[in-house]
Amino acid sequence: MTFRVGFGTDIHRLIKGRALIIGGVEIESDLGSEGHSDADVLLHAVTDAILGALALGDIGAHFPNTDDRWRDASSHVFLKRAAELMREHGYELGNADCTIHLEAPKLRPYIDRIRAHVAAILITETENISVKAKTGEGVDAVGEGRAVRADATVLLHKP
Ligand code: MG
Repeated sequence: MTFRVGFGTDIHRLIKGRALIIGGVEIESDLGSEGHSDADVLLHAVTDAILGALALGDIGAHFPNTDDRWRDASSHVFLKRAAELMREHGYELGNADCTIHLEAPKLRPYIDRIRAHVAAILITETENISVKAKTGEGVDAVGEGRAVRADATVLLHKP
């Protein structure tokens, strides 16, 4: 069996007048993430982790934010494409481990829905998707409530 590991990270500014969508789930919040697409920080990080495991560049190379096709696009399109590339290269997802960094609101009530949603896009079991949440403890842009960040590690395997 061949294994490949990948890591992805992303950050988006939090502003008024935008929805906060994380892992395809809308979070009740006064602030939302700014970006060209729906600015789903978690799906972007997982997409980058899969592309990274395949050494196929990054999300910006595949889906440039200068391309109007991706304006306000639902980010599940990006992750679905990365999963297709993974299968085209003969790999399956072993597991993904993710951390979301957000000061408020608390994400605990949303975590299982986020895990199920990411698993559905990747066509895998929810138990293969770990999503953890941390606050910024009042320091840095996350801690000051100005940004949301996500990190993701994936393990791919080829039989
Ligand atoms: Mg992004």
